[in-house]
Amino acid sequence: MSEPKYKRILLKLSGEALMGSQGGGIDPQTLHRLAREVVDLCEFGVEVGLVIGGGNFVRGAETASEGLDRVTGDHMGMLATVLNALAMQDAVEHLGRPVRVMSALKINQVCEDYIRRRAIRHLEKGRVAIFAAGTGNPFFTTDSAASLRAIEINADLLIKATKVDGVYSADPIKHPDAQFYSRLTYDQALDQRLNVMDATALVLCRDHRMPLRVMNIFESGAVMRLMRGEEIGSLIET
Ligand code: UDP
Repeated sequence: MSEPKYKRILLKLSGEALMGSQGGGIDPQTLHRLAREVVDLCEFGVEVGLVIGGGNFVRGAETASEGLDRVTGDHMGMLATVLNALAMQDAVEHLGRPVRVMSALKINQVCEDYIRRRAIRHLEKGRVAIFAAGTGNPFFTTDSAASLRAIEINADLLIKATKVDGVYSADPIKHPDAQFYSRLTYDQALDQRLNVMDATALVLCRDHRMPLRVMNIFESGAVMRLMRGEEIGSLIET
């Protein structure tokens, strides 16, 4: 296929995707590999929006269980996503692709504010748009931020990059006999409490008919193959 199957995508990477085999933080080689994949997608003609989590640094719920105020922990988590976004911006820029970080929290000296129309303009101009600081609100996750931004920018597809090949009836690492779903509905994912995204993110996608592809990001070039028309991972639809 010489034309990408999807014109505009929102790719959600967990913070952990950036840490490689390290226990936390950012692994420069992994960062570079992911940036290369993003740039390849752009060169193929795909408009790419990115949401990166912050779990490689801080998660609010975890800091709360250690005694820190939950909202403070969530603020720290959102700032952690900004660290990842800035690192990715740098890596993508080094590969010659224009890129902008847009934050849901105002940090004007570091990056742009998130403004929907401006974000769409960046994408139309072939710039990678990295949406940082989640939704800007505590008690949400970057999965919800990814669903929200995908809908706002009229993405053709939301991709959630994970460590496994798609959606299973149970954790395939702990349960090797778990059933793999190549296609399912949002209601199925919600009713069966399948480990896809949190309920807020799923309901948002369901109600706005945003298709979601869950796939393994550790498999190099997989997103590109998907753009070329291959069936990869699991597809969740309304
Ligand atoms: N977070 C938040 N509001 C948001 C998005 C994220 O408060 O809209 C905080 C929350 O504490 C979360 C942390 O930022 O745990 C990092 O995001 P997430 O856990 O979604 O990252 P991932 O697991 O994808 O790396």
